[in-house]
Amino acid sequence: MSAALLSALPKVDRVLEAGPLADHRAARALKRRLVQEAVEGLRRRLLAGESVTPPSAEALAREVAARLDALLLPRPRRVLNGTGVVLHTNLGRAPLAGAVVDAMVAAAGACDLEIDLESGQRGSRFAHLRPLLAAVVGAEDVHVVNNGAAALLLATSALGLPGGVALSRGQMIEIGDSFRVAEMAAAAGARVWEVGSTNRTHLADYRRALGGELAGMSAPVSALLWAHRSNFRQEGFVAEVELAELAALARSRGVPLIADLGSGSLGVGIPGDEPTIAAYLADGVDLVTCSGDKLFGGPQAGIIAGRAELVARLRRHPMARALRPDKVTLAALHATIAAHACEGTPALALHALLGASVDDLRGRARAIVDALAWPATAIRSTVATIGGGSLPGDTLPGVAIAVPGGSPARLARRLRLGDPPVVGRVVDDTLLVDLRALPASDDDDLIAALRALASAPG
Ligand SMILES: *Cc1c(COP(=O)(O)O)cnc(C)c1O
Repeated sequence: MSAALLSALPKVDRVLEAGPLADHRAARALKRRLVQEAVEGLRRRLLAGESVTPPSAEALAREVAARLDALLLPRPRRVLNGTGVVLHTNLGRAPLAGAVVDAMVAAAGACDLEIDLESGQRGSRFAHLRPLLAAVVGAEDVHVVNNGAAALLLATSALGLPGGVALSRGQMIEIGDSFRVAEMAAAAGARVWEVGSTNRTHLADYRRALGGELAGMSAPVSALLWAHRSNFRQEGFVAEVELAELAALARSRGVPLIADLGSGSLGVGIPGDEPTIAAYLADGVDLVTCSGDKLFGGPQAGIIAGRAELVARLRRHPMARALRPDKVTLAALHATIAAHACEGTPALALHALLGASVDDLRGRARAIVDALAWPATAIRSTVATIGGGSLPGDTLPGVAIAVPGGSPARLARRLRLGDPPVVGRVVDDTLLVDLRALPASDDDDLIAALRALASAPG
């Protein structure tokens, strides 16, 4: 490294004055920061002995302008979900469309979030949602927070559970991104007493926790916690207590049973036999918590449904304020609930995806390969999954387009970097774009993306 190279690095002011940056719409302070970072990065590499040719001011300005363009792109960005996983957590879970999006737009400006228009007095942001949601899920009362994790956090902290909670070792589950049910309850300040074993838990195990008889206990547990095994199954020598039996035990000892259901299914228009909020409540669960953006089919939200007196304690807890959803989310959730409240399959984007017949998907696939002039052999039958906290065995038939031409990993990357990006999946060394999780309204954009792939050099 020579001092000459260091002094050949472009000066920040020169880069800012160069064409690509001088006219860029970004604020001057932001441009300056990025140019300084870029020059500093080059300086560090030179000092570290890397062989770097100092760029011209113009070239560096072009580089920084491209970075600014990327930073200013609206994000999260729309992508085409060709993965065949309908509720893909990394792709934003339940897609929202139609009436739900309209409701979000309507609430975006000034709205009657916390005003009672009848009296002109201050109202609750949950006033419109509460009675409808409670009726739809069949609960005495409901409360809504930011997500499923927040629902569990509030339920386990607001009730003040001095003796902690009992949780089966078979339900000490991890959802993904390191979210663990037991750790969330512990973070809420509730000591978690493990009962039973990994594969078998009996009513007697809970009884001992309720009697304060576990090693190290100085008091009985103050609540029972149940976590739905939403992303795995156990087979073989296994035993789990019936939820209704556990609820009866909790009631006989005067402690609440809190059940983390995860998926939030209401049962209609959902394949498989995922338990529903109503079924949990009918079994006698005192508080059910679940997500709004899994099988419920709505925006990211956490739903808490159950006994009025317990829900009221949650609603009054100071933490409820920290976990409350914003107006746009509430609007989306209300529209989602309204769809569930109508007769038949809910008119939601999720249910349209799940309800598409294989013939529908085949017809779309044929139209797509015809438009591309690809052979019919590019159409494949697949096994798609629901994802997002539904039973792992809950699959449904899919239909995919097999993308021809070279390394599937490379093709997948090029499709992801297209406009709009397409996210597919590689099966048996072939890149597939599955139509199961893709709304039909995306087909034209998919055709364009696949055409661009075929025409551009790899
Ligand atoms: C998904 C899930 C959660 C977490 O819900 P988020 O809405 O992602 O916070 C908690 N418990 C179970 C059983 C789940 O399936």
